[in-house]
This record gives sequence, structure tokens and C-alpha cells, in this order.
Amino acid sequence: MSKWENNIRKVVPYVPGEQPKDTSAIKLNTNENPYPPAPGVAEALRNLDPASFRLYPDPSASLLTEEIAKLYGVGQDQVFVGVGSDDVLAMAFLTCFHSDKPILFPDITYSFYDVWADLFRIPYEKQPLDETFRIRTEDYKKENGGIIFPNPNAPTGLFMPLDAVEEIVRANPGVIVIVDEAYIDFGGTSALGLLSKYDNLLIAQTFSKSRSMAGMRIGFLLGNPALIRLINDCKYSFNSYTMSQAAIALGTAAVRDREYFYECTQKIIRTRERAKKKFLELGFLCGDSMGNFLFVAHPKYRAAELFAALKDAGIYVRHFCTPERISNYLRVTVGTDNEMDALFAFLEQYRPDDRSN
Ligand SMILES: *Cc1c(COP(=O)(O)O)cnc(C)c1O
Repeated sequence: MSKWENNIRKVVPYVPGEQPKDTSAIKLNTNENPYPPAPGVAEALRNLDPASFRLYPDPSASLLTEEIAKLYGVGQDQVFVGVGSDDVLAMAFLTCFHSDKPILFPDITYSFYDVWADLFRIPYEKQPLDETFRIRTEDYKKENGGIIFPNPNAPTGLFMPLDAVEEIVRANPGVIVIVDEAYIDFGGTSALGLLSKYDNLLIAQTFSKSRSMAGMRIGFLLGNPALIRLINDCKYSFNSYTMSQAAIALGTAAVRDREYFYECTQKIIRTRERAKKKFLELGFLCGDSMGNFLFVAHPKYRAAELFAALKDAGIYVRHFCTPERISNYLRVTVGTDNEMDALFAFLEQYRPDDRSN
């Protein structure tokens, strides 16, 4: 061990899903959108002038925050943008969760939350989902230093009705409640309408899933102006120029094309419902996902084995070994109809190795 090791921050990092080198692989493992971004994005890309790259970008990314504010009917001072929602959520953790009391989040959820909490030395207490994988609102009414949960939750896909979200926000006026709406555009209802009523509510969304722009890294927060200002103070104490000129221009173009967005998300919802029916026909358990993914388990298959067999066939899905309670589930991103057909063709002929479980 080197002499300096005791004086170093050590963390266990988040492990993202695999990005296979093989471009012919069917990629249903990281909840990316199978369709390209809005046509206006390609045009905005053609209009980018490399000569302007010698200048720093607008640190407030005001073109983009203005377009997002217009879309959601909020003030521009209620919008905070960053490098994917991972960036804006990390900034929200750093700013909003500054208490000796533990923050609360579900035991089965986005596995980045405990990583940020550990990184920033924020105490936390995981709250177990009930036996149907639902969030119990009563668990979020104890003393705490803040709350975060995704809605719909990941990887279960289950959507919590807005009155339950409101119950949690209303019960916690002394802390910030972050609702991570990474998948809200696939059929759920945003907590946006609660913003005018509760100044402790913060909403996070992303361009990575519903807007087909995971590679461009754009995410945003919506909240009350005073809170957004405080989050900006932290951001400007860390890195003023998070958004590149390209991200600002292309993100703005993506928001402007509302019709394409609607068609694209509807297409994914249709494929999701068709895929869900098919999974059920094949004997899988499959809940009511409101995301662009399905969370499935087969009573006769071992998830780890099926995961490996699919991978051998060039079909990538996601398997989480922990927590134990979900270790026999697979999370399958909703791809194109053709990609899902290839998946089901594989599953129809799949016979696991014989073994008594
Ligand atoms: C995908 C995802 C994010 C982060 O997405 P970015 O690509 O960083 O915008 C955040 N929260 C949840 C629940 C997600 O699934």
C-alpha cells in the first residue's frame, strides 16, 4: 500500500450497461431509444460552425433553458440543464442533500443513487418496496435529510400515481424531494403540475431516452427559482461550462420538434404493449411498465443463464445480480418491432439446461 492511500477518497463506482463493439448486436440493455433524434437535430448539426468553437459556450445555456421553459410552461429561471440527468442529479445531491439525517430512496431503484450518496458522504437509508414492487408512501414520512425516487421507478417500470407523489412531497416540507422522471414521456404523468404548489419539489428529466439523444448528454431539472439558483451556485463552483455549443444547439432543436417527439414515444409505447403481451404468452411475469423497458422473469428459467444465452445470440439485455429479490429478473429495453421480433424468435426456441431449481 502506498503511503498516500489513506488520504485518498475511495468509492465504488456505478457500472453502466455494456456498449458492445459489435454494431450488429441487438442492444436492449441500456434503455436507449431505437429511433434517431428529431430531423431538426440533423439540420442544427449541419448549421454548426466550427469557427465558433474557439469561444466558450454560453455558461447558462439560455437558448436551451428557454426552449425547455416554453415547452413546460415554466419560467426560464426554473430550469437547470446539465450533461445528462446523471450530471444534474449529482449536482442536485450535492446542493440539496446537506443534512446529518439520512436521505431516503427505495431499495430497488436506479443504482446510481447510493453511489452519489457515498461519493458526497451523504447518509442514506433504503426503503424496501412492497411485495408487488411498489413504493410505500408511509416509508417516506419519517425524519430524513431528503428524498429521491424515480417515477416510473427503474428497473421495475412501475408508475406511482401523482396523488401518492404529492403525499410524499406534502409530508416533507423541510427537505427537498427529487422525482427522477427519466421515463415520464412513455405514458406517465409528470409531477410538473405540483411545482407551483410545493417549493420543496425538484423534477429531473433527460434527453437520453424519449428524445433519442443519450450520446449528446443532456438532462435538466425543473424547480422553484430560489432552489434552481442555489443549484446553479454549486454548478458555478464546480464547472461553469457543462454544456457544449453542440449540446445547446442540438438540444434546442430537439425540443422544438414536438410532433416527431409525440410520434416517436407513441411508437415505443405501442411496441412495449405488444412485447408485454408476447412475454406473458411465453410464460414470463411482466409488470405494467410505463417506461421504455420491461422487467420480466420466467418461473422456469434462471435469469443469469438466459442473459448469457441471449448475449451469445447477439441480443443484449440487462441483468442485475443485486438486490437478491430482483436477481431472477431481466430488464429488456423496448427496441424497434423488428428487434423485439428477433428477441421473441430466440425465446420461442429457448430451452434452458435441465435442472431442478
Ligand atoms: C437513464 C437514467 C438516468 C440518467 O440518464 P442520463 O443519460 O444521464 O440523462 C437517470 N435516472 C434514471 C432512473 C435513468 O434510468
